[in-house]
Amino acid sequence: MPQSLPTLCGSIMGSPFSLSAKIHNAAYAALGLDYTFVCFGIEDPVAGVAAIRTLGVRGMNVSMPYKTVVMEHLDAIDESALVIGAVNTIDNVDGVLTGYNTDYLGAVRALQEVCELNKQRVAVIGAGGAARAVVYGCLQAAARVTVFNRSSERGKVLSSDLGAHWGGGVETFAAQDFDIVINATSVGFKQPDSNPLDGLLASHLIVMDVAFMPVRTALLLQAAELGCRTVSGTRMLVHQACRQIELYTGMEAPIDIMEQAMLEEIQRLNL
Ligand code: NDP
Repeated sequence: MPQSLPTLCGSIMGSPFSLSAKIHNAAYAALGLDYTFVCFGIEDPVAGVAAIRTLGVRGMNVSMPYKTVVMEHLDAIDESALVIGAVNTIDNVDGVLTGYNTDYLGAVRALQEVCELNKQRVAVIGAGGAARAVVYGCLQAAARVTVFNRSSERGKVLSSDLGAHWGGGVETFAAQDFDIVINATSVGFKQPDSNPLDGLLASHLIVMDVAFMPVRTALLLQAAELGCRTVSGTRMLVHQACRQIELYTGMEAPIDIMEQAMLEEIQRLNL
């Protein structure tokens, strides 16, 4: 199969964004690998997948808005990505392209750093791609999951697709019915003043936000003030990137170095 020197990895997305490049390149340097990661803002995802084959790109992250459209152009799809309905990672092994979803694993690994998920009552707010990954991961870890979403149609589809309970609009979320609440909407991302659960939290909850910019979102700040344990979107992001490193290199990911590179870049981006 075609190969590159240095070994090339990258990401395809609608418009280029520097964060993954910083995280991955920090990991490759720490592992002593002759790998380079480049972010491509592209308009044609099908041509993007063909380029992986033509250029021998070893691993390609996939970001918005191409996580679903690339799927039919790959040679194989991992079971979890198939159920979630989105691929964020393409692993090229000897010319065979396999699609994975590492977001769900990132969410679960980040949550499991602070609590067990088995039999926990988890509320997931949102029904987009990130919510599907989070719900899938929590169900895999044997949590009891209820979905809340602004659009009931989308929320019901997600719940029935994945086997979660449908709860209704976010205003119907009642803190006393849950152990863990996760914001998996886009509310709060690059919106330091927006909190999708404003006034709805209670101190017994573990509160996670998938939004990773700013690192301490309005939701996480309010949760911390109440005394809740919190899990940041950056922790999910770095864990999902660790899984990508494991796939692309076969080595254990240097998580601390990756997290430092991620946080420095978020600070540089001034959010
Ligand atoms: P989608 O566009 O697929 O879904 C957006 C979700 O947010 C929907 O449930 C939508 O509700 C809801 N929403 C949007 N605006 C509002 C609003 N004003 N009020 C209430 N609900 C709203 O996005 P994704 O699922 O792909 O991404 C969601 C977030 O997850 C993004 O911020 C993304 O950056 C983050 N993310 C974080 C990762 C990490 O590792 N930390 C990994 C992947 C994503 P409705 O259905 O009613 O429109």
